[in-house]
Amino acid sequence: MKIIMLGAPGAGKGTQAKQIADKYSIPHISTGDIFRANLKAGTELGKKAKEYMDQGLLVPDELTCDLVMDRISQDDCKNGFVLDGFPRTIPQAEALDAALTKIGQKMDYAVDVDVPDENIINRMSGRRACLNCGATYHIVSIPTKVEGVCDRCGSPVVLRDDDQPETVKKRLEVYHAQTQPLIDYYKKQNILKSVDGTQPMEEVFRAIVEILGA
Ligand code: ADP
Ligand code: ADP
Ligand code: ZN
Repeated sequence: MKIIMLGAPGAGKGTQAKQIADKYSIPHISTGDIFRANLKAGTELGKKAKEYMDQGLLVPDELTCDLVMDRISQDDCKNGFVLDGFPRTIPQAEALDAALTKIGQKMDYAVDVDVPDENIINRMSGRRACLNCGATYHIVSIPTKVEGVCDRCGSPVVLRDDDQPETVKKRLEVYHAQTQPLIDYYKKQNILKSVDGTQPMEEVFRAIVEILGA
């Protein structure tokens, strides 16, 4: 099963993608996580990506597309994968379609996690991310068991630099201008499914499983 997660920054794509990956035993591919891992490792790609990420802008398509095509051609993606944070532009979506068409495949679902802008600032200011294992929490709705400490690996959880309110506003603008058009793009392909992302995490997941099949 090959799934795309669509939605604004902070809509809950990552939270849902991780659960989908577990349930259906497919890899979770997050371009944001890949960029952050590169940044942590001090690679050239990481340094370049950071310039854009810190400003709330998208990393250029040239830097993003090859990376994803490489990843989905790996062995563990044979039975499918869930893409989280990619594609984010029409050219990225076209590059993905072209790469899959070449090997006689196509995406199965684009799941749009719908959350209005008003809820996003609150989601993001409360988001805490583990810089070690990538787990994500929320100080109110999805708290860690011990304050400030990752449940999974015991590392500190932090507010991401790009989750400051000013950067979030910019990211929302970028989302509406560059990413939202993908909703129509996948509607036309008849693979778009929408879920109400304002529901509690478990309810959102239940709605997604209903779409994907148990
Ligand atoms: P969120 O989950 O909050 O939407 P991500 O972790 O997906 O954030 O992305 C963080 C940042 O990484 C984005 O604001 C952008 O700068 C960059 N990024 C991630 N994925 C892409 C992509 N597909 N194209 C361009 N930039 C990306
Ligand atoms: P995205 O990957 O779309 O940027 P995340 O999955 O990181 O979004 O979620 C953004 C924030 O909202 C995190 O702090 C997360 O714990 C929290 N969150 C995710 N889903 C829900 C939900 N259904 N209700 C309330 N908070 C949620
Ligand atoms: Zn952790």
